[in-house]
Amino acid sequence: MARFIFITGGVVSSLGKGLMAASLAALLQARGYKVRLRKLDPYLNIDPGTMSPYQHGEVYVTDDGAETDLDLGHYERFSGVPARQSDNVTSGRIYQGIISRERRGDYLGATVQVIPHVTNAIQEFIGADIEPDLDFMICEIGGTVGDIESLPFIEAIRQFRNQEGRGQTLSIHTTLVPYIAAAGELKTKPTQHSVRELTSLGIQPEILVCRTEHPLPDGERAKIALFCNVRKEAVIPALDAKSIYAVPAQYHEAGLDSEVLHAFGIDDAPPPDMARWDDVLDRLFHFEGEVTIGVVGKYVGLPDAYKSLTEALIHGGLANRVKVHINWLDAELFEQSAGEIAAKLEPMHAILVPGGFGERGSEGKIASVQFARERKVPFFGICLGMQMACIEAARNTAGIAGAGSSEFGEPAEPVVGLITEWMSAEGLQKRAAGGDLGGTMRLGAYEAKLAGNSVVRSIYGADTIHERHRHRYEVNAHYKDALEQGGLVFSGMSPDGELPEIVERPDHPWFIGVQFHPELKSKPFDPHPLFASFIEAAVKQSRLV
Ligand code: GLN
Repeated sequence: MARFIFITGGVVSSLGKGLMAASLAALLQARGYKVRLRKLDPYLNIDPGTMSPYQHGEVYVTDDGAETDLDLGHYERFSGVPARQSDNVTSGRIYQGIISRERRGDYLGATVQVIPHVTNAIQEFIGADIEPDLDFMICEIGGTVGDIESLPFIEAIRQFRNQEGRGQTLSIHTTLVPYIAAAGELKTKPTQHSVRELTSLGIQPEILVCRTEHPLPDGERAKIALFCNVRKEAVIPALDAKSIYAVPAQYHEAGLDSEVLHAFGIDDAPPPDMARWDDVLDRLFHFEGEVTIGVVGKYVGLPDAYKSLTEALIHGGLANRVKVHINWLDAELFEQSAGEIAAKLEPMHAILVPGGFGERGSEGKIASVQFARERKVPFFGICLGMQMACIEAARNTAGIAGAGSSEFGEPAEPVVGLITEWMSAEGLQKRAAGGDLGGTMRLGAYEAKLAGNSVVRSIYGADTIHERHRHRYEVNAHYKDALEQGGLVFSGMSPDGELPEIVERPDHPWFIGVQFHPELKSKPFDPHPLFASFIEAAVKQSRLV
């Protein structure tokens, strides 16, 4: 039966709970255990799908089409376990379920209340959809203990622990031990207060993870243990790491995984096999070259908006033993002055146009595609980036001057549009029968067939792939022949041949556009083949300039 590990945070937000959870999963896996991770978010949105990337960073999409918190990306990158819809819930989704049951009369006239109805629904989520052979379920609670909105979650965990028994559950509380420069001291008081808050809600944590900028002296560790009612060994100091991929090894050094196992009464577990992580760190810190990638996007002010993309580029670097520098370029600037484009893009070893929504900056992205195509600089277009590549090809290589996307108005030539605007009646009927009516977001993993002699076929080493989607618009297949005559080959299509999935330019050193998000599936120990190949092309380019 699975054991449950609950991770809460105190004192301040942004303590790196998600990375801690992901690292703990990696360590338990390295000791041979089967692990899953879950995130409970106290906000009232049903999911982060409608939230601005500025608010919430990237929306991470799972194979089964859930739009989830970006922490699930960390979970998957560190554990390799594909996340599912059942691994992320929000207060909004919990309340939505309860309110629709209430309207149906399912509560048979009872008064519907936070306790027990909301807390029961949270516990159902925690225990649902678990493989029988799972060893550990790690559940991270978003927000900070003491917030009004996280109270029902803390209460649900209290009840869950009470029912399952202490041997089956564990509470890890993450806090901050700030350094006061004027006094030259680390301060334990915020940790004491935060643990007191959590115990007042009925949860005595077994383990404390203390984020600190300075090593925690023995005396302070003992003091925290005494005041917070935990073993001294269970006070785990967590210093900033040189890279997120160094975090698992650092937590192991600090004793986190041993202490977790000890709390469950497991004292004979094998030591973790860290070979996979040692190799990642070796590649990360002993690189043999450096490349600079220009990412031309819209949300460039907030790197969290492109979290998976950033990591996938780093993974591509690991595959080639090079350090990857990302130069974030605001697409809008390219619209204001044509001179900016060459000045900013010439020093780049490769150019990437990532996914995005809305018209702002789109002409700048199209101009970047044109620069990459004409100057033969490696180019990678992802989702909106592929759509921009097709519009650029239509306008500049196929003579279709009015080419545009119906996402941005009503172009004379909708090279990118909703499938309802251009797909054959038969195609639409088939899709409707499969539950896909178009006009709504295409979400989650879909199959694509790769053309036999294409570049992507050789990069993937497979004829059929499954990649994750998150978009409403599609490249209009009616323009396929015209664009192919201009040199842009449609090398990946949906199995029914109706939806373009990949385009490439055989006459270019590296030019690929994909309608899906390959970055979501890349891992440090298993870099995505497209990113490995793209960075390899950037390395070649770096030798030319
Ligand atoms: N805005 C585009 C669409 O909805 C692309 C989305 C994306 O890049 N994720 O089709």
